[in-house]
Amino acid sequence: MKEASGTPEKKLKKPRGKVRLIPGKCIACGARCESECPADSIVMNDKGEPVIDLAKCISCRKCVKVCPAQAIEHFYSEEELAVLEELKKSGVVKPTDKDEEEAAEPRADQSYRGVWVFVEQEDGMVAPVSWELLGVGRTLANDLGVELAAFVFGSKIDHLINESFCYGADKVYCIDQPILRHYRTQPYLKATVDLIRKHKPEVVLMGATGLGRDLAGAVATVLETGLTADCTGLTIDKENRLLEQTRPAFGGNIMATILNKLHRPQMASVRPHVMPMPERIDGRTGQVVWDVLDMAEDDIDTKVLEVLLEKATDHVDISGMEVLVAGGRGMLGPENFKLLDELAGLLKGTTASSRAGVDAGWMPYERQVGQTGKTVRPKLYIACGISGAIQHLVGMQDSELIIAINRDKGAPIFEVSHFGIQGDLFTIVPAIVEELKEFIRDQNPYAKSPVGGDTR
Ligand SMILES: Cc1cc2nc3c(=O)[nH]c(=O)nc-3n(C[C@H](O)[C@H](O)[C@H](O)COP(=O)(O)OP(=O)(O)OC[C@H]3O[C@@H](n4cnc5c(N)ncnc54)[C@H](O)[C@@H]3O)c2cc1C
Repeated sequence: MKEASGTPEKKLKKPRGKVRLIPGKCIACGARCESECPADSIVMNDKGEPVIDLAKCISCRKCVKVCPAQAIEHFYSEEELAVLEELKKSGVVKPTDKDEEEAAEPRADQSYRGVWVFVEQEDGMVAPVSWELLGVGRTLANDLGVELAAFVFGSKIDHLINESFCYGADKVYCIDQPILRHYRTQPYLKATVDLIRKHKPEVVLMGATGLGRDLAGAVATVLETGLTADCTGLTIDKENRLLEQTRPAFGGNIMATILNKLHRPQMASVRPHVMPMPERIDGRTGQVVWDVLDMAEDDIDTKVLEVLLEKATDHVDISGMEVLVAGGRGMLGPENFKLLDELAGLLKGTTASSRAGVDAGWMPYERQVGQTGKTVRPKLYIACGISGAIQHLVGMQDSELIIAINRDKGAPIFEVSHFGIQGDLFTIVPAIVEELKEFIRDQNPYAKSPVGGDTR
């Protein structure tokens, strides 16, 4: 068709954009982009990196999607952006057009790579949660196709470098200075922030201990990134290289999976005993990267005058026990916990409680299992008169063997139990105790009485 003036109408075609390699990002994964390209526009050079022939490229973006390192990106040239602008003005391309949305969507800095775990120590003694985090960190690093690194600060901490390798680290960043002997927020914060800014890890994990909570929050604030505290699950969205951080939310009524799409590093803390302890492999080695903290004692406001160690008490750490017999509101009163003490004693374990038992004053807070209590992972967990509210389950559901005793057939505790006994605990627990005593007597007929008693 011709215009009235006689000049042909110039029809603008919507540009498709192009793809390009982001320098330094390719991990030479084995030519996945080349094999995915339907237009044969990609060939690999001798470093295993793609060379893209833009004359052949049809901008299907299959290479962008398949790249595990997000090393290829889609973009519009300046001329194409001008055309898009024209089309937008004339209404041909709507502002909601998916391509434009994608192009305009803000993304996190893609130069961050690697998974880091903070190895927490006090005067050379490591917090075991550090090794648990190296265990889960190994899986995350494998899924991302990157290195797993530990970072450790302190004074005279050489032994922790070796241990970090044994628990799976490929690399250890280490600052060993007297100023770091005892934890203080200022020097540890500066050391962590300086290292992260220098080496840019995409994921940083810390233990949700007193020390870890203090440090993680301060680091996330200074780096202006997100921190998900007390995660119970960590996985990777491989397509988008995002850390999926799962934790209870809204009072524990839902499990929320939190993503940090825009900021780096992605930071998460995990409580002790939530993740399994990985196998220690003797003789594993890796690379050590030494660094120096540029800070003098005078720069630090807090001074450590004296370290007072807690005196040994009859304190029981239920999170370290192999057998736990826990009671809930169904126990009806503190005196009935003696029944559980006896059972726990026979099994060489100790007693624990739901929050209902603690709130009622029947058991001390240090024995509470759950979201606002301790996370436990014993070999055997016996739940007596506990309904199985989600806030309780998040603290014990990873126990190796769970036996629940409850008179309500529909109690949610049965959903996570390996064995469930429906009935009155005041009949069932004494019956188990008698059976166990008999069993122990049969094993050792000369023993006067079986092992028993609790340390509470
Ligand atoms: C923010 C928040 C945090 C929380 N944190 C925790 C936490 O850390 N830990 C925790 O445990 N809870 C926590 N709670 C509380 C939680 O929601 C539940 O209220 C609590 O776990 C219930 O404890 P329970 O199972 O002992 O009591 P109930 O829910 O009252 O259950 C008692 C059970 O005993 C059974 N029973 C009664 N008598 C007998 C009998 N004779 N024989 C056999 N069975 C019997 C009943 O059938 C029932 O199932 C939290 C709640 C909130 C909102």
